[in-house]
Amino acid sequence: MNALAATSRNFKQAAKLLGLDSKLEKSLLIPFREIKVECTIPKDDGTLASYVGFRVQHDNARGPMKGGIRYHHEVDPDEVNALAQLMTWKTAVANIPYGGAKGGIGCSPGELSISELERLTRVFTQKIHDLIGIHTDVPAPDMGTNSQTMAWILDEYSKFHGYSPAVVTGKPVDLGGSLGRDAATGRGVLFATEALLAEHGKGIAGQRFVIQGFGNVGSWAAQLISEAGGKVIAISDVTGAVKNSNGLDIAKLMKHSSENRGIKGFNGGDAIDPRSLLTEECDVLIPAALGGILSKKGVLILPDILANSGGVTVSYFEWVQGFMWDEEKVNNELKTYMTRGFRDVKEMCKSHNCDLRMGAFTLGVNRVARATNGTAG
Ligand code: GLU
Repeated sequence: MNALAATSRNFKQAAKLLGLDSKLEKSLLIPFREIKVECTIPKDDGTLASYVGFRVQHDNARGPMKGGIRYHHEVDPDEVNALAQLMTWKTAVANIPYGGAKGGIGCSPGELSISELERLTRVFTQKIHDLIGIHTDVPAPDMGTNSQTMAWILDEYSKFHGYSPAVVTGKPVDLGGSLGRDAATGRGVLFATEALLAEHGKGIAGQRFVIQGFGNVGSWAAQLISEAGGKVIAISDVTGAVKNSNGLDIAKLMKHSSENRGIKGFNGGDAIDPRSLLTEECDVLIPAALGGILSKKGVLILPDILANSGGVTVSYFEWVQGFMWDEEKVNNELKTYMTRGFRDVKEMCKSHNCDLRMGAFTLGVNRVARATNGTAG
């Protein structure tokens, strides 16, 4: 089943549990707007290259649409559609005043030079600038993009509309970005995991973690979990996987990974087959590669729309900050939002007699349905 079919199936199940009107159900499923643009740039060698860019704006009942822009060779319209829909439920679960959107460009960012990436980002922005905006749709980083990408979008957008720092979040701190935004999704994973374990009378310390993915989310989650006393015993990324039953030295792994563009060849553990990672014996499994879930093996599943809502939550802090909060304040507020999100999901689980995944979907869908009902007519 592809990502869109899986997401829509979860949505429909939630709509059924909530007893949603069938017309409302249908309208919540159909995206507000789907944008597809062609982006041609001159490469550094003078030849032309064309890429296809997407922005799917799913729903704006609760506020401006919000979501990342990913650069990845597998970006396709169905996937962007699914991810945009997930952002709608995710921002509702986090209870921040946004709708949902997602964008992407089908490209291999690792094979483009910095100036090619800049040209591509600027051309993409020229094609969509009339359709995004502070009060309509606010992009952010995602896989393959970062604060530099946001700085280019802001600069290009501002040429058309005047200086508009809140048109994107996840900006460099020098341009009004928030302290702590870079770590926020990984830190949110830590807080959500803490809330889940606390339910079972446990803490992070002493638990054994396996993490699939060592990009922005996985590497921050690994670092923060090991700082909190958790033992990260195995990690994989696209280049390979490494295991150390006594706990990996995450600081050394980060250094190795940035110097070697991946964890392959790290000598602080044994190389293992990445395909066997998910079956490694552990207490908590964190799939932090290409979305996915967060689960306590065989027993509990912490849904991704809750577990990875830390990034967009700190995006919201960035968007509303009139002045810059210090990092401690950002992190404390994030903890409040993540813990409350977990508590609200648990309440839905109790009232609708469902698991955490459906609890998160019913919570998100219910909030959006109520906002839609409040504004309809
Ligand atoms: N790309 C992140 C996500 O999917 C952050 C989105 C945002 O900050 O708007 O949740």
